Amino acid sequence: MDSVRRPSLKLEGLTPYDPKYLPAEAMMSANENPRDVSDELRRKIESAVRQVHFNRYPDPLANDLRDLIAEANGLDREHVLIGNGGDELLFDTALAWGGPGRTFLNLPPTFSVYAVNALLTDTDVLEIPRLADQDFAIDEEAVLKAVSGPDSPVDFTIIASPNNPTGLRARTEFLHELLHATDALVVVDEAYFEFSRMTMRPYLDQHENLVILRTFSKAFSLAGVRVGYILAHPSVIQEYLKVRQPYSVDAVSQAIARVIFQNRAEFEPGIEAIIDERERLRAELAKIPGVSPYPSHSNWVLFRIPRAGEVWQQLYDAGILVRDFSATPGLEGTLRVTVGTPEQNDAFLEVLKRGAA
Ligand code: PMP
Repeated sequence: MDSVRRPSLKLEGLTPYDPKYLPAEAMMSANENPRDVSDELRRKIESAVRQVHFNRYPDPLANDLRDLIAEANGLDREHVLIGNGGDELLFDTALAWGGPGRTFLNLPPTFSVYAVNALLTDTDVLEIPRLADQDFAIDEEAVLKAVSGPDSPVDFTIIASPNNPTGLRARTEFLHELLHATDALVVVDEAYFEFSRMTMRPYLDQHENLVILRTFSKAFSLAGVRVGYILAHPSVIQEYLKVRQPYSVDAVSQAIARVIFQNRAEFEPGIEAIIDERERLRAELAKIPGVSPYPSHSNWVLFRIPRAGEVWQQLYDAGILVRDFSATPGLEGTLRVTVGTPEQNDAFLEVLKRGAA
């Protein structure tokens, strides 16, 4: 054969996820931690990795890591599931709660992976856009209406809190009300919760339909290693176990994540510094003529700026990579800058101030 049959129809018009990750001196586009793990932690990691048997399959459920996370959250391991980054667990969510004849409630603009996973699993999507004139807050009334009552078609929803790429966290009272109003699965994506200091963890006992998604990629500087986890009721975890890839979290990643989690207090000053710098960045951006930053509870600032595409290029030419959302529906004219080190943030602000002068 010199040809191949066409793939599944649902791939028509889909483009592969592209993080637009280009080499740059200051990487301020992917909401990573600007500080890598310390040399001391690296030495501990090296010694942990040395113990790993490469010829053996890893523990499929990463039970040692599960136990560490469970204990820190006052839970037992049945409430915890580890994944190959939060991304894998998001896909598993669509596999387990989506599918033909099922409905996912999406609140755009939000993390684009949610909608793609729905499409790949033939899940219907109901959209309730965030309120553009209220800093992209959730349209709470519309969401509660959509999920309420026995006739609601919604099987699951994912609420990023804080929401990527817009910045606000969801209100705890609203999430509470939502969890009460529906038996749909409600995934609260807390990938960035360390920067908002808000978690739904205390409410896990009360709601069988609550899933909390977390990651090692942001506050814990481990985006390159690929470890995430969910906290949920054991009955929900059992369903995830049916769809997950058996060995998705390799033994090296498990060993690294264990060391990082045991030493997580070490990351606290870095998190504090990011929160302080976020506020400084936002205040400085607001002083630049024509620039309107959105409020952020996370480790980035989304801002509106005239000729956003050109400004992206000016920044890139100066060695600074930010994320261009100006072609994303609902986010026209915006760029998102990940909070960097103070020096990176200064360099970023300098380019914008020069452009505005
Ligand atoms: N949720 C949100 C809102 C994110 O922005 C990301 C990373 N971009 C993830 C989940 C997944 O992160 P990871 O796969 O690195 O754990």
